[in-house]
Amino acid sequence: MFVSGGAERIIVSVDRAKLKQGVSFVLGGLNQLLWPAVCVNCRRSISETDNNLCEDCWNELLACTAGDYCRRCGRDVSRFGLLDGACPDCQGRQIHFDQIARAGIYDKSLREMILAFKKGRTELDSVLGFLANSALQGSGFVNGTEFFVPVPLHWSRRLVRGYNQAIIIAKKLKHPSAKISTELVRIRRTKSQPAMASPAARVRNVAGAFAVRRQHQFADRKICLVDDIKTTGATLNECARVLKQAGAAKVFALVLAVAGQSTS
Ligand SMILES: [Zn+2]
Ligand SMILES: [Zn+2]
Repeated sequence: MFVSGGAERIIVSVDRAKLKQGVSFVLGGLNQLLWPAVCVNCRRSISETDNNLCEDCWNELLACTAGDYCRRCGRDVSRFGLLDGACPDCQGRQIHFDQIARAGIYDKSLREMILAFKKGRTELDSVLGFLANSALQGSGFVNGTEFFVPVPLHWSRRLVRGYNQAIIIAKKLKHPSAKISTELVRIRRTKSQPAMASPAARVRNVAGAFAVRRQHQFADRKICLVDDIKTTGATLNECARVLKQAGAAKVFALVLAVAGQSTS
């Protein structure tokens, strides 16, 4: 009696699994018929296997993500232009993060995609996530990272936008052990950084804007800050300073794009 009851249950569960498989197959086909795959950037139709972008958009994007860069500041530089791992621009600067990895330069199609992503086109997360993962894999700190810390938005700005783009990027990162931590917070609303011209004004604007929560677990940990764009680096630098003050052993930075240069 007991055995046959158990067998019945197994049969029922197998049938359900098959049914579920069948339904998802039909729905998948229907989905493709009603909403054929399109390039998330230019909306041209593509095949399911094209990874969300058409060939032209991939080529444009990859042109913005090629080349060597300085691992201290993220600027384009030939590997022969580095002295002690840093470019001439970084020499003598106080940079609180230990290394940076970037997907590309804030220009052309990468710039357009990041801007669109910030303005609500969150479906671009798959492509931008792919780029962020490539940058992470190409960095020297992927194995040591224990926490991904998205650069926080002030709660009032997140309320208006509805999401923090840095958290979306962090959630797309593939890592066997590192976890996302939101224990770094923005305690003061700052002016939008791109609206201001001078690097000194940017540094003043973010001074004292960040803090760690009391229960943070950053002491002796290796942390990777995550953000969409690095402009002068004032925001990342201030975040890294606060994390180091909280006892972090290392602070790395991962961004989609570094601004202030042109590919042309
Ligand atoms: Zn396209
Ligand atoms: Zn540099």
